[in-house]
Amino acid sequence: MADRLSLLDATIANHPTLPREAIVKEDILRTGIAFSPDALAQAAQAKAKAYFIFSFDYVPLAEMSQGEHWKAPEEIWLEGGPWGFQPTIISVRLNPHSPYRVEADQDRLTLRVEGEEISGVQLPRVPEYYTRTLSNGKRVIEIAPTIEWGYLVYLTVFRICQYFGAAEECQFCDINNNYRQQIQAGRPYTAVKSIEEILEALQIIADTDTVSHAYTITGGSITSRLKGLAEVDFYAQYAEAIEKKFQGRWLSKMVTQALPKDEARKYKDAGVQIYHPNFEVWDERLFSVICPGKDRYVGRGEWHRRILDAAEIFGPSYVIPNMVGGIEMSRPHGFTEVEDAIRSTGEGLDFFMSHGICPRFTTWCAEPLTHLGKSTPGGAPLEYHARLLETWRDTHAKYGLPVPPGYGHAGIGYAVFSVSAFMDVIAAGAPAPPAPAEALAS
Ligand code: SF4
Repeated sequence: MADRLSLLDATIANHPTLPREAIVKEDILRTGIAFSPDALAQAAQAKAKAYFIFSFDYVPLAEMSQGEHWKAPEEIWLEGGPWGFQPTIISVRLNPHSPYRVEADQDRLTLRVEGEEISGVQLPRVPEYYTRTLSNGKRVIEIAPTIEWGYLVYLTVFRICQYFGAAEECQFCDINNNYRQQIQAGRPYTAVKSIEEILEALQIIADTDTVSHAYTITGGSITSRLKGLAEVDFYAQYAEAIEKKFQGRWLSKMVTQALPKDEARKYKDAGVQIYHPNFEVWDERLFSVICPGKDRYVGRGEWHRRILDAAEIFGPSYVIPNMVGGIEMSRPHGFTEVEDAIRSTGEGLDFFMSHGICPRFTTWCAEPLTHLGKSTPGGAPLEYHARLLETWRDTHAKYGLPVPPGYGHAGIGYAVFSVSAFMDVIAAGAPAPPAPAEALAS
């Protein structure tokens, strides 16, 4: 049997409590996916990959010999096929060399692993708002793309990070290099989006769409000032303007650094409901080498204190810090054994979840334009990702936490969150998220 199929079979057999769709999803996310020429031609008619913040690809754009970066879909939907898959939505991370390939089989698309079909594939339809342009000629896909099968409007309002170079950038992050490569490739890619164009794009979505239920405001860190504003004031102004014009239309989410309590309160006052002060990696030593800028400007202990402080402002279940699942096994500084990596990350999950705060994770994409992508091009082992899913699921259940708000439906066959399988492994019957006011009262 071929290598990847053997690995998949063994991992599925060793983790019988995980849906096998979730294991395949994690493996595709940590490996990337290829498209045959015929499949790519069909994909070019679907909802396109918008490059909503990072590249999330396993090769640079310059090496996409089929022009995949212009034609690939944002996500794929797996269902049916020989393995009888329940619906599973996966973000498209391009890798022309991947053992996972979408191929065209007459009038249907299939997912094959080393040539063996495992599932049918469906593509996202182009939403009406993606056919529209703003009055300044920019397209909605650039200013307000949607992901998670249309659930989440993703507003990267600042496409650059002021943590610059090897001594400051998070070592897994290609935000700055991705910006450069997109500009070189000729993609319209606004560095700083204006409030006016955000509002105009959202108006088009509001007028034409019923699928989107949340928006995220995010971008690079601001260590000095941007347009004369500190980080909190720069990002809060977008939330304030959106909530003034569209109050209640979407759940509002903010992804920025962990800010001091009085600054985080400005987000709440601006109308933000969910705050994501991402801690990236739990281990103290690894935080300092993988996130050198954050370590120097804020520090790990202070970062964690600010996460706990934010729970008093937003309610614990409305503070959802992200970590990048897998970077704790990166070379040259990371853990070499899955057991040790899971013990460390499990400690962090237990710490936050014991306070009612539910971290979530994106599956690490070892992008080639990042420091860790260069040192660890294969990413973390599949066994790590399976163990992380189990650990997250079991810790979440241990503390009886609700389904994290802002990610749509949970559970296998229902989850739309596409950059890791944490929402796919939540058991049916987990408590629904509380309303924001209840979350504060608890
Ligand atoms: S703070 Fe780190 S993860 Fe966030 S954009 Fe900057 S370099 Fe990337």
